[in-house]
Amino acid sequence: MGDVQNWQLNRKMKYPYEEKRPRRQVAYVFDTNKCIACQTCTVACKTTWTSGRGQENMFWNNVETKPYGFYPKAWDVKLLNKLGSQKWGGTTYKGKTVFESAPFGERAQGYLPEQSEYAHPNIGEDEVSGVVDKGAFFQGIHNVWMFYLARICNHCTYPACLAACPRKAIYKREEDGVVLVDQSRCRGYKECVKACPYKKSFYNMVTRTSEKCIACYPLLEKGEQPRCVQTCIGKIRLQGWLSKPQAVNPDNPIDYIVHVKQVALPLYPQFGLEPNVYYVPPINVPREFLLQMFGPRVDKAIELYRQVKADKKLLAAFLLFGNTPKIITRFEAAAKEAIGYNDKGDEVVRVPYTEPFFQRPLFDSKHQVYRHNTA
Ligand code: SF4
Ligand code: SF4
Repeated sequence: MGDVQNWQLNRKMKYPYEEKRPRRQVAYVFDTNKCIACQTCTVACKTTWTSGRGQENMFWNNVETKPYGFYPKAWDVKLLNKLGSQKWGGTTYKGKTVFESAPFGERAQGYLPEQSEYAHPNIGEDEVSGVVDKGAFFQGIHNVWMFYLARICNHCTYPACLAACPRKAIYKREEDGVVLVDQSRCRGYKECVKACPYKKSFYNMVTRTSEKCIACYPLLEKGEQPRCVQTCIGKIRLQGWLSKPQAVNPDNPIDYIVHVKQVALPLYPQFGLEPNVYYVPPINVPREFLLQMFGPRVDKAIELYRQVKADKKLLAAFLLFGNTPKIITRFEAAAKEAIGYNDKGDEVVRVPYTEPFFQRPLFDSKHQVYRHNTA
């Protein structure tokens, strides 16, 4: 066991291998406030990667409604119960991670879901937190809540799937931090399925191997964002590269949102994997729920998000979401537009802060008709 630095826990932690960060790390920001659970991302991923035999119940990308949606069933509740006390002292985690609480002889705390637990990916969909009383009416603030949580593999800095594999079939690529299963080495022991706290490594009963999200690496290698990001209807997603914590670049939109402003936070950081999907927390949800889900930086993140229009650079970073298939490595908050550049320094997107407004005359003289809509 090595002692590795986990910046999300603000402390060192136990991990079966030495600390080794890739040259660059694939990372995502998801704005939960904008997700409409249309499942376009889910379908885009499914039709691209998991339409084969043995993959029927497999969703590398899924969107669940919290608090009652889960895929597989109750995945987070089960693990949170096993983990015991999860206290934070300020921004330092005082509890145990999945590695530190591993039972004797195992690499990580976990559990193996029954196959039937994958059979209801939309369980709890659109269910709200409580009962709406008869006669209740809207008074400005809803007394029940729910939100949509889009989930993919986090391509963790300290993957539990990789740590648990006795065949060393799982590896993390040096060039982009993508975590992959070498299908020729995998013997289907399911240790990764058991160990991944996010339950994003899946067992294929036909091939008898484990499979997982590959971050659409053929697209990454072409400088393009993954399918789930490109197709997102709500424009809630941005994929890019997260720099090492000691080499943050404020002109990289992912670094700016995650490291500089800390307005997007990891999912269950207390698990200890340093996951690389970062979520803007939903602003309508009780804080206690968000604190256990996204850690102690939630209050500040929400405060900042509410005032995003007062921070031109942050607004510019958010405007880049969903507006180009290309990976943006540098951005600029110009006078009237947010501008994104690719690896080579070429401009790939330009988004105005305020959408231009055009009004046409009511009467269309060319067609000799009145218009129904002039805006
Ligand atoms: S989310 Fe799970 S499957 Fe993905 S890298 Fe982390 S531990 Fe592995
Ligand atoms: S496509 Fe985007 S908006 Fe639709 S469910 Fe997926 S993440 Fe949410």
